[in-house]
Amino acid sequence: MPGPEFAREENRMSLQEQRSATGVPLRALSEEDCVRLAGELGEPEFRGRQLFHWIQKRGARSFDEMGNLSKTLRGKLAETCDLGGIARVVSEKSSEDGSAKFLFEFRDGRKVESVLMPGSTADRTKMTLCVSSQVGCAVDCKFCVTGKNGFFRHMTTDEILDQALYARRWLQDRADGRILRNIVFMGMGEPLLNTGNVFAAIRLMTEGNGMDLSPRRITVSTSGILPGLAELAGCGIPVGLAISLNATTQAEREEMMPVTRRYPLDELLDACRRFPLKSGSRITFEYVLLDGVNDSPAHARRIVKLLHGIPSKVNVIPFNPDAGLPYERPPDERVEEFAQILREAHLTTSIRWSKALDVSGACGQLAGQYRQKMPDGSRLVFDRE
Ligand code: SAH
Ligand code: SF4
Repeated sequence: MPGPEFAREENRMSLQEQRSATGVPLRALSEEDCVRLAGELGEPEFRGRQLFHWIQKRGARSFDEMGNLSKTLRGKLAETCDLGGIARVVSEKSSEDGSAKFLFEFRDGRKVESVLMPGSTADRTKMTLCVSSQVGCAVDCKFCVTGKNGFFRHMTTDEILDQALYARRWLQDRADGRILRNIVFMGMGEPLLNTGNVFAAIRLMTEGNGMDLSPRRITVSTSGILPGLAELAGCGIPVGLAISLNATTQAEREEMMPVTRRYPLDELLDACRRFPLKSGSRITFEYVLLDGVNDSPAHARRIVKLLHGIPSKVNVIPFNPDAGLPYERPPDERVEEFAQILREAHLTTSIRWSKALDVSGACGQLAGQYRQKMPDGSRLVFDRE
């Protein structure tokens, strides 16, 4: 049975619990919550809306910035509430390719990373932010540094959201025309094991009076957590879906991704077939290419068969090596050949030549918790129930 940290349901703390634990993390509040809070502080409704606007639209990083709120109200807020989110930016590293990697620290000292990258289109001003959803990850995929380092805790709604608020503000401050356009949940953690907080953060990101990002420009990537996928299908937010496929048979996938024992490959593909896609949109299948493991032409042909009947596109990701991982990256020509077989079978295929490799910000390289110690070395065991 999964350990307590595995509990997915009810993992978004209620307003009341958040209050008693840390004061109100204001960044997690909806506009209605802000209005309610203003009422509780004896302020009119519009003050609540102004507060929401400062936090979510303007990306205020302190109460002092909220110029049109009275000094008294700012004082009251500072006394009774907390903005929540990122407590400290430990480092910002810029990569030669235009990406930037942020190491964020939260109030309890836990750290995660987010990577800001130029989008895949020719337009280099539209940026994509790769966000984390958990401190660490319990899924333990054998090719992933985050997985290797283990799981620490879920990220809260305000922590997830604040990565985006911070990055958007960071771009605005540079005033060089770049804007935050896309969000991908491809950083640390398995978003569909933290659905409550992830969905709440997405709702705030797409709030018209807030960040106002289009849900279609937000992509949730999963290793294939079926209950979470069902929740995503039912939650009514039309975000993009990416599945980390990575293997073409049950046995092979179990080896690389032990989660497959619990959520088998055929059931995952069935869930993809049933997934309520908006017309014209497709599921992205990510496929990390490991030298001599899953990169043969036979593997490519099996992908074509597996994805038959699913509106899909494939994103081939040449493995990003790390000293602690037992795999190698295939030569570039093999990566190209592999993609070519998929394309010849009419699968839309892109190759994710890594961004931010020089700052260890590429897929699967996010550790964040270096110097964070696992309390008990625990990791989940995905046996079938
Ligand atoms: N947990 C989610 C999202 C984060 S991982 C998931 O697994 O989908 C984001 C992507 O990085 C996944 O597609 C994963 O397969 C890929 N990835 C992990 N480790 C990698 C590595 N070392 N090299 C290249 N891609 C990797
Ligand atoms: Fe977790 Fe995704 Fe890494 Fe697997 S690939 S260990 S699910 S972060």
